[in-house]
Amino acid sequence: MWCAQMYSVRQVSPRRNLCRSSQKAMPLAIKTPCCHRGCRELVRGRYCPPHAKAHNRERRKLYDTNRPKQRLYDTVTWRRRSKAYLRRHPLCERCQKKGRAQPATEVDHIEPHGGNLEKFWDTDNWQALCHSCHSAKTQREMNVR
Ligand SMILES: [Zn+2]
Ligand SMILES: [Zn+2]
Repeated sequence: MWCAQMYSVRQVSPRRNLCRSSQKAMPLAIKTPCCHRGCRELVRGRYCPPHAKAHNRERRKLYDTNRPKQRLYDTVTWRRRSKAYLRRHPLCERCQKKGRAQPATEVDHIEPHGGNLEKFWDTDNWQALCHSCHSAKTQREMNVR
């Protein structure tokens, strides 16, 4: 009796595992529409092959265009000049317009410089902002794009 029970348990469990693993494999076989807006191609992954290629290219382009911009902020010159600017403009300019006195912590480019060096270093294009105003503005600029 004891032996037979052991035997049946042993026999059932591998089959149950098999069943579970085949269930897990199921969604892979289901095709869903390509994630590219407007494309109705049914695919197993996120994008159909031509759109996958386009999206990869876009991502790389975004990465390549952001990298040199990011490097500008890493320079000693930027750190030194932005610090000096904040000393001259200690209050957040946006908050000041709303009648609040909030210490500025960051230098923002009024018009996004987009990697343009003249715009980047032009102090007429700078404004001192507090962190919350700066991130709100950055967020808006991201949405516009
Ligand atoms: Zn597609
Ligand atoms: Zn502010």
